[in-house]
Amino acid sequence: MSIEIRNVSKQFGDFHALRDVSLDVDSGELVALLGPSGCGKTTLLRIIAGLETADAGSILFAGEDTTDVHVRERQVGFVFQHYALFRHMTVFENVAFGLRVKPRSLRPGEAQIKAKVHELLKLVQLDWLADRYPAQLSGGQRQRIALARALAVEPKVLLLDEPFGALDAKVRKELRRWLRRLHDELHVTSIFVTHDQEEALEVADRVVLMNGGRIEQVGSPQDVWDHPASPFVYGFLGDVNLFHGRAHEGEVHLEGVRIDSPEHRDLRNGKALAYVRPHDLDVERYVPGASGIVATLTRAIVVGPIARLELEPVESNPDNPGSGTIIEAQLPAQQFRDLGLREGETVVATPRRARVFVEGH
Ligand code: ATP
Repeated sequence: MSIEIRNVSKQFGDFHALRDVSLDVDSGELVALLGPSGCGKTTLLRIIAGLETADAGSILFAGEDTTDVHVRERQVGFVFQHYALFRHMTVFENVAFGLRVKPRSLRPGEAQIKAKVHELLKLVQLDWLADRYPAQLSGGQRQRIALARALAVEPKVLLLDEPFGALDAKVRKELRRWLRRLHDELHVTSIFVTHDQEEALEVADRVVLMNGGRIEQVGSPQDVWDHPASPFVYGFLGDVNLFHGRAHEGEVHLEGVRIDSPEHRDLRNGKALAYVRPHDLDVERYVPGASGIVATLTRAIVVGPIARLELEPVESNPDNPGSGTIIEAQLPAQQFRDLGLREGETVVATPRRARVFVEGH
C-alpha cells in the first residue's frame, strides 16, 4: 500500500516538531527516516500510525485520506525499540495475540491461528522458541519475535521505530541484513526510523534525511551519499573535516590550498565551506615548499587495514586553515607504514576531493 504524506506540521506548545513535511512512499518500498535525536522522526511515524494527530496536513494510504481512520483500522504493524512483548505470555501467545483480539467475525479458528503463528515463527527463524517466555530470549530474538507479532495481522504498512537501537553492534548488523532479506520476501511497505546512518544506508531503498522537523533530502542511499543536498546531510552521513575558503571562478581556495574539482565548476563566487572526508585527504611527509596544509601528526592509530590519523595544523604557518582544529585523515595501513611517519613529525595534507558549499547558498 502506498503512503502519501502531505504538508504535515505538528507543534508541541511553541515547539515545531514537524514543519510542512511531504513525502511519497511507494507500495512495497522500505524507506528509512534518518536524522539526529529530536528531529521529528518518531513524531512523523506516530502520525502515520494514527497514534498522534497532525496540526495540519494529511496522510493518505493507497490514495485514501486516513484522518478519520482509527489506529486499529489502519492495518499498520509496529515494532519499537523496546520490545513490547507481553512478559507473562509465551512466544507463541505473543505472536498469536493480534489474531486472538480480532473482532469475532474476523477471528481465525484455533487451528488456523496455530498454523499462522508457526509460519511466522519460521519466517523469523525462531520456531524452536515457541514455548519460551520473553525473559528467556536474547534482545535480538525478542525483536524478531516483536516483528513476527507485528506481521501476524498481515499489515499493509509496517512501522519500525529504532527496532534494533537497544542491541549491541554485532547483533544490529545481523538483524538489519536479516530485515532486508525479510522485506525482499514480503514486500510490505515499511518505514524504518533510525539515527544510525550506516543502518539507513544499508537497509533502505530510499533514505529520508530529517533535520529540525524538516526533510532535508530524499534519495537512494547512493544518491544521498554521492550528492548530499546540504552541509547538514554531508556532515550527518559520515566523518568530515570542515575548511573555510573562497570559491572563485569555479575553483575553491582554502587558505594555502587550491581545490580544483571539475564537479564544482558551477559554484557561485563567495565564501565557501569545503567538506573533506578523512579518506579524501592525502598525507605525506613535509618537505619545505610543499603546498597543502602543514600539520603535526599528533596521533596515529592503526587498526587492521586502516590508519586513522589526527593532524594539528601548524600555527606558525599563516596560510593554514583555522588553527586549533584537529584534522582527521585516513590512509590504508600499508601506505602509512611505507611513509615511516612517527607521532610529532610534520606532514602536509592535501584534499583529493571536497564537497564545497558556498555560504548563504
Ligand atoms: P529520537 O531519535 O531522540 O527519538 P526523534 O527524531 O524521533 O528523536 P521526536 O521523538 O519525533 O524526535 O521528537 C521531536 C521533538 O518533539 C523533540 O524535541 C521532542 O522533545 C518533542 N516532543 C515529542 N513528543 C512530545 C510531546 N508529547 N510533548 C512535547 N514535546 C514532544
